[in-house]
Amino acid sequence: MAQPSLLEKLEILADAAKYDASCASSGTAKRSSSAGGKGIGSTEGMGICHAYAPDGRCISLLKVLLTNHCVFDCHYCINRKSSNVRRARFTPQEVADLTLSFYRRNYIEGLFLSSGIVKSPDHTMEQLIEVARILREEHDFRGYIHLKTIPEADAELVHQAGLYADRVSINVELPTVAGLTRLAPDKNAGRIEGAMGGLKTAISEGADATKRFKHAPKFAPAGQSTQMIVGADAATDADIVGKASQLYGRFKLRRVYYSAFSPIPDASAVLPLKRPPLIREHRLYQSDWLMRFYGYAPGEVADAAGADGMLPLDIDPKLAWALRFRERFPVDVNRAPREMLLRVPGLGVRAVDRILASRRHRTLRLEDVGRLTVSVAKMRPFIVTADWRPVTLTDRADLRAMLAPKATQLELFAA
Ligand code: SF4
Repeated sequence: MAQPSLLEKLEILADAAKYDASCASSGTAKRSSSAGGKGIGSTEGMGICHAYAPDGRCISLLKVLLTNHCVFDCHYCINRKSSNVRRARFTPQEVADLTLSFYRRNYIEGLFLSSGIVKSPDHTMEQLIEVARILREEHDFRGYIHLKTIPEADAELVHQAGLYADRVSINVELPTVAGLTRLAPDKNAGRIEGAMGGLKTAISEGADATKRFKHAPKFAPAGQSTQMIVGADAATDADIVGKASQLYGRFKLRRVYYSAFSPIPDASAVLPLKRPPLIREHRLYQSDWLMRFYGYAPGEVADAAGADGMLPLDIDPKLAWALRFRERFPVDVNRAPREMLLRVPGLGVRAVDRILASRRHRTLRLEDVGRLTVSVAKMRPFIVTADWRPVTLTDRADLRAMLAPKATQLELFAA
């Protein structure tokens, strides 16, 4: 069989990488492909993704696999051993050359490189490291590099990856050990977490060393991240949120990404036939935000879920929590502490900080709060101002229906 050309390999291996959400423009509305010169800017295409650099800049990355050959057989993965897909494999030199050539043309500012496991985890890890080594050592490449690391590889190799990469990641894939054992029989939760623990130690030692010694080598300065697949197994939202919080706490992850499982061609029979609604992924990102920036404990986010452990899809988890704990409201915007203001539906972190700054000089009225936020309608039942008190609003049985977005709006996000 004829070997694929470089362009064909790029087509196969950039397409195969699109299922990894760790740097993604996922969640946007689908438009048809802009391939073949028909229109521009479709978000369905593959090859380039966006990520945020440590300084907050949004950067474009070449997102590609080194190979989609794999000796593992994870049921949810299109590249699994038993999948009937077209295979291709780059050499490390080819990936380095492509990265440099796209970089010089200003298409990208960095590389997101992952791989199926070919021959052995160690061999694959060596090949990934070689790409980063060529870029950094032979070409003095200063762009961003995100390397997926392989938990089954030797710890020393995983460590070497962190010396070249800005960010490293290991996918935990599924929130429960039972789910991982069933859907990824070659993977081991203990090994995955052991590798994450090793990276956490190396990242904090590296950060410490660079503070003390000017020329100390940097180790993954943009930290580590992971991805969880949503909807491929029976795990509830409460399970997923609990796992994410545990990962943030134990391994100091920069981000946990949630990726709604999408049925793949030639799918394994153990997988659900339908993808979960995309809005479920969105609600999990909102919960993640509540834990990271709004001071919610994971148990509190789980309280926003129903008895089945699932977050409501029609309203956001912050509103769901407020409706469940109505006795905590209304909150006086002129007196309440920051942590309670952050619980008010419709009040974001920036708006809360602006309220705190303004109320030092004057007593806030409803109109003032309205000026500091996007819309005051959602928060009216939950706040008290100098000229506003909701009286019976929080007791109304139909409050949820009043505040939930209309169904037509929800369809924008439906699968
Ligand atoms: S290890 Fe599993 S998830 Fe990774 S490429 Fe192979 S089959 Fe896919």
